[in-house]
Amino acid sequence: MAELKTGDRVSLVGRIQDPVGRGQSVTIKKELGRGGQGIVYLVNFDGKDMALKWYLNAPDNYFYPNLNNNILNGAPSDAFLWPKALTERQNGSYGYVMDLRPKNYFEFGNFLMAKAKFKSFNAMLAAAMKICNGFMMLHRFGYSYQDLNDGNFFIDPQTGDVLICDNDNVMPQGEKSGIMGKARYMAPEVVAGGIPDKYSDRYSLSVILFMLFYANHPLEGAKVVACPCMTEAYEKKFYGSEAVFIYNPNDKSNLPVRGIHQNVIRRWPALPAVLRDTFTREFSEEMLRNPQKRMIEQNWEKLIATLRDSLVICPHCHEETFIEEGKNTCMDCGKPIDTSLQLKLGARNLYLTDGTKLYIDHDNTADVQVLSDPKAGLLLLKNLSSGTWAAETPSGKLKTVVPGDVMPVKAGIKISFNQNTKGEIINA
Ligand SMILES: [Zn+2]
Repeated sequence: MAELKTGDRVSLVGRIQDPVGRGQSVTIKKELGRGGQGIVYLVNFDGKDMALKWYLNAPDNYFYPNLNNNILNGAPSDAFLWPKALTERQNGSYGYVMDLRPKNYFEFGNFLMAKAKFKSFNAMLAAAMKICNGFMMLHRFGYSYQDLNDGNFFIDPQTGDVLICDNDNVMPQGEKSGIMGKARYMAPEVVAGGIPDKYSDRYSLSVILFMLFYANHPLEGAKVVACPCMTEAYEKKFYGSEAVFIYNPNDKSNLPVRGIHQNVIRRWPALPAVLRDTFTREFSEEMLRNPQKRMIEQNWEKLIATLRDSLVICPHCHEETFIEEGKNTCMDCGKPIDTSLQLKLGARNLYLTDGTKLYIDHDNTADVQVLSDPKAGLLLLKNLSSGTWAAETPSGKLKTVVPGDVMPVKAGIKISFNQNTKGEIINA
């Protein structure tokens, strides 16, 4: 009997440091849920509630030391709900202890079915950035995730913060966990029988990002709708040997279908062209067939940062919209937006409209809030960061802007956000 019951004590091995350690144990409080692989229990560790994933069918012998290694190495970034302690083998099985998922995080699948909704594009971009950064760090640690799918992500719809779960299949790059991944998220070469690696992770990442932005699978259009019944043989075709991107400009056989794929039909033309161009390239025949050519995580991060720089609050309807080269009308109210006031930051131009948040560095946290001072009839920049800015007026007056403080938006003012980052307000 591998199942555990309330009050059972489970002994731990490994990870002495934080916070669970050798020679200690957890006590089962109750079951939280179960899946094909095992059961997740609420457990008490030293007065603290944590989660225990307990395998019903303990995976092969390699799995146990691999989990132990991952625990000893620690999480690649705070995006991961990483295993914190391994249990001893007992009751014919074993498991690992991790932190509980906070209640305000929803499974990514809920976003796809509109059961959860991002508060803003700003939150959506924060989620995309955190996912890309998490996978960059994971690959930098020499791991591959192997089983990236919509059940692994939990997202706070308010902030876009992400927790990546089910990290027990994470393996050193090039090693095989025995897990092939979830059908719709597997790269074509894995569908065809290959071993998952960082390149196939990158395919899965691009699928996840596409679904995040457009709420539709990139390969699910007319062909999939016409399929009488999804069998394994069809899956191998649609997601493998005969995969066709729904907006493949050279092959219109798998276009989205009206009445079925409404989300993507609406969002594809509305979101910026740079996003369309990137996905069109990443799901092209060439990228589907050549895993090593797929875009690396850092470049996804750059793309998301570019999108974020172009996201503004419309001064007319106060909704978010994207400003693109040659296109500065609001995607909600259709009115033109005055983008002449800008913060020039190296090669970047950030638009200053009332309510817009600016991201100066790359820590995925807003640093500046643009506000309006209706009495004075001008815009203000509020320092949301933890550092003090130094502002210099065109006449050479110096002013410091401490965290929480505001300064006026006037062309010619130069701002040092930190030693390496200097900007200037311009009236373009
Ligand atoms: Zn508007």
